[in-house]
Amino acid sequence: MKSCPRCTYPLEEVTHKEVELDHCRRCGGSYLGPEGGPELFGPFVDPAVWAGSEIAKDLGRWQLHCPTDGSALKAYEVAYADESVEIDLCPKCRGIWLDSEEGKALRDIVMNAGQDETTGLSVKDVRSGLIGYIFQLISQFPLEVWNPIHHRPRATLALIGLAGAVFLVQFADDFGSLTEQFALVPADIRSGRSLWTLLTSMFLHAGILHLAGNAYYLYVFGDNVEDYLGGRVYLALYFASGLAGGVLQVVTQGDPLIPIVGASAGVAGVMAAYLVIFPRVKIYQMFRIFRFRVRVAWFLIFWIGWNIIGAIIGGGEVAWMAHIGGFLAGALFAYPFRVRPLNQVFSRT
Ligand SMILES: [Zn+2]
Ligand SMILES: [Zn+2]
Repeated sequence: MKSCPRCTYPLEEVTHKEVELDHCRRCGGSYLGPEGGPELFGPFVDPAVWAGSEIAKDLGRWQLHCPTDGSALKAYEVAYADESVEIDLCPKCRGIWLDSEEGKALRDIVMNAGQDETTGLSVKDVRSGLIGYIFQLISQFPLEVWNPIHHRPRATLALIGLAGAVFLVQFADDFGSLTEQFALVPADIRSGRSLWTLLTSMFLHAGILHLAGNAYYLYVFGDNVEDYLGGRVYLALYFASGLAGGVLQVVTQGDPLIPIVGASAGVAGVMAAYLVIFPRVKIYQMFRIFRFRVRVAWFLIFWIGWNIIGAIIGGGEVAWMAHIGGFLAGALFAYPFRVRPLNQVFSRT
């Protein structure tokens, strides 16, 4: 029987997000193997990311002992801005001991510190340099400052690949009868006909720029959301948001005969989930020729505000209400999956 390094109470084997860990019901601490931390909280908690960086200080203390192999745990203080946390690592099995609130605290500190280029945590690549600037100048699309992933985003790539393949078919058909047949027409849905077009319209696009915009936003925001939620939950989020946006557009659209196509509502749901899960991540944003770094929360608040104004004023060939519905559904869907301290996850209520 393993016992708690902090309070010697017997540890309980528990499973969260398919990760097995040893949890102490008395003090709320948890012991995770080397893969457990990144699996539960993402790459930010991986000691390979922070242990050698300037935000981590070796405290030179070895007070606690590893519940698995009995080795003394090495204590670090990880600090940035006005937040700090003490983390204990096992040098032998490379596991990590997290007191009750420490997993989330460590993740938030490392995520925040990595957005500041002076800490040296974020890897310098094309995004921060001239190539990134020129790309943004032309596209006016956002770029992430630093948000690494742990797994290959297979579901995101599959959604993009599928939309691309469907687009080629639409193109070959000259955006004719095939597009018409699978597009979402509010008049049909309102009279209970062709309900399946709520789903099929998510894979259709009206032109190459429409497809490129949706694919780009899905890739930028979707890879991290999928990495954190796992492929199955991520796909459920995507389709639930797409359906919710489609339904809201159907019930509010002025002219019920105008067909609706596009993945935008599903993508909007993924963007809202990103806001719930990664509120501290910063992006590079363009204003004309000027590039600046801003919290993703500000970018997404501006984005949803712009859609609300669009919905009020109307006009354009944009399904504003589909974006709004998808965004709201995505936020609601993701909220129960937000990052929480492990003692809250396992508390008996
Ligand atoms: Zn304990
Ligand atoms: Zn150990």
